[in-house]
Amino acid sequence: SSRLGLNPTTLLRTLSTSAAKREPQKAQLLINGEFIDSRTDKWFEVHNPATQELVSLVPQATPDELAEAARSASHAFKAWRKTTVLSRQRKMLDLQALIRENMDKLANNIVTEQGKTFNDAKGDVLRGLQVVEAAAGIPDFSMGQHLQVSRDMDTYTIREPLGVTAGICPFNFPAMIPLWMFPLAIATGNTHILKPSERDPGATMMLAKLAIEAGIPPGVLNIVHGGVDTVNFICDDPAIKAISFVGSDHAGKHIHDRGNQNGKRVQANLGAKNHGVIMPDADKNHALNQLVGAAFGAAGQRCMALSTVVFVGESKQWQDEIVKRAQELQVGSGFDPKTDVGPVISPQALDRIHSLIQSGVDEGAELLLDGRQVSVAAGLEKGNFVGPTILTNVKPHMKCYQEEIFGPVLVCLQVDTLDEAIELINRNRYGNGTAIFTRSGAVARKFQSEIDVGQVGVNVPIPVPLPMFSFTGSRGSFLGDVNFYGRSGLGFYTSIKTVTSLWRSEDVAHTSASVNMPTMQ
Ligand code: NAD
Repeated sequence: SSRLGLNPTTLLRTLSTSAAKREPQKAQLLINGEFIDSRTDKWFEVHNPATQELVSLVPQATPDELAEAARSASHAFKAWRKTTVLSRQRKMLDLQALIRENMDKLANNIVTEQGKTFNDAKGDVLRGLQVVEAAAGIPDFSMGQHLQVSRDMDTYTIREPLGVTAGICPFNFPAMIPLWMFPLAIATGNTHILKPSERDPGATMMLAKLAIEAGIPPGVLNIVHGGVDTVNFICDDPAIKAISFVGSDHAGKHIHDRGNQNGKRVQANLGAKNHGVIMPDADKNHALNQLVGAAFGAAGQRCMALSTVVFVGESKQWQDEIVKRAQELQVGSGFDPKTDVGPVISPQALDRIHSLIQSGVDEGAELLLDGRQVSVAAGLEKGNFVGPTILTNVKPHMKCYQEEIFGPVLVCLQVDTLDEAIELINRNRYGNGTAIFTRSGAVARKFQSEIDVGQVGVNVPIPVPLPMFSFTGSRGSFLGDVNFYGRSGLGFYTSIKTVTSLWRSEDVAHTSASVNMPTMQ
């Protein structure tokens, strides 16, 4: 905003009006360093979820275009793998600087295509930027192990890139998730083919332009678009050695299985149902504010949204206060600085959320707050808005508990003890994240040890690990063996070669060849 000389409110208004007047843009492909128009006749429409205005068109890339992307990535790998680790570090440093400079533009595009609020969209970019910053530590990060076995002999490890790698992204974090994938892939010496979500590819296109500006050579990063046909190409093409996927269970299982059958490495982050446990000794104000923010922020469209609350014992009396706080949240356009809850991604998502709310009512849950008829400002009547919704007395067999709702809906369950809460959560098929609110270290420690969920928050509602750690969702929320970013991400995008070398410093007279297994003793 300082560069444009506008204050943030004026900037928001300018950005939103300029977005409103824009002609639908055709998303281009990035192949071999060139941004090109697809020759396809099949296009996906991207609508602003707050207004239904058509904002862009996304091609289903043709088989020839996809093959060209794979060829370009294979060719580029030959030279890219030979670059020095310091030159790859420099590209990451330049890329992070460009992302920081363009933060507002990226966030503006995310609000237009995805719907979340402007500040939340900046958080989306920032969490991705942190991964680029961590990738800039690649020389240190990729140091191997070395042991001097004897005066003449060394054993050491070398991390080598795999070749062409690919990423397949969901709609809900249009900047963060592509940035979980291509920067680390490229920094480790691989080339990459990235498929953004066909529902909001704009942020990826901007990031790709910044990557080119940062000096990523032709073919090292390629962007392809499309739906299932593009996904299947990525799963099948023999040049592609590894696939990173984030999205729904259904697509993830398909990609994991098909990629594995074709001999590829696959890491797949899937859906979730994250439980927040409220102990009666919790700091009430902190716990309720965190819970409301984590349930309804981003309209509940975060894989780490705290969409389920488990009240232990007397904490159930705080339910009414949660309702009060949820009622205060403003529903509207992500460009309005007063908005807390933006639209959900599509009319289909809205219908799915409505029907899951209704299923809860039909199965006997109590609807404490109903956001289905929420009213919004003039001009937004066609938007996909759902207001904060709270269902209580929910039982584990109910559909609204079993399924990921992915909307601004909080389901509440009540138990008597911490043990029951732990058992409930461990029985749920997902294991993405969970949080406990308590003032007791002993309770938190017990929860941490006994809970079978890969990411745990203690008085922290959305414990998405920073990129010096890895994203460790577990059980039904993950398929594969090696997690995203951090040391795991480094492991995913590289293979280890272990070298044992002998350079004798003095002549040793050999009398005969030995056929015994060398023991190096
Ligand atoms: P989605 O599965 O519909 O789409 C993700 C990608 O898969 C897209 O690029 C899409 O083109 C492709 N795809 C969709 N259907 C496919 C099919 N049948 N076969 C092959 N490919 C297909 O997911 P979404 O709706 O964009 O994202 C929301 C989901 O992602 C939620 O379930 C959410 O929990 C999950 N998610 C998980 C994490 C995590 O880290 N665990 C993070 C973000 C989102």
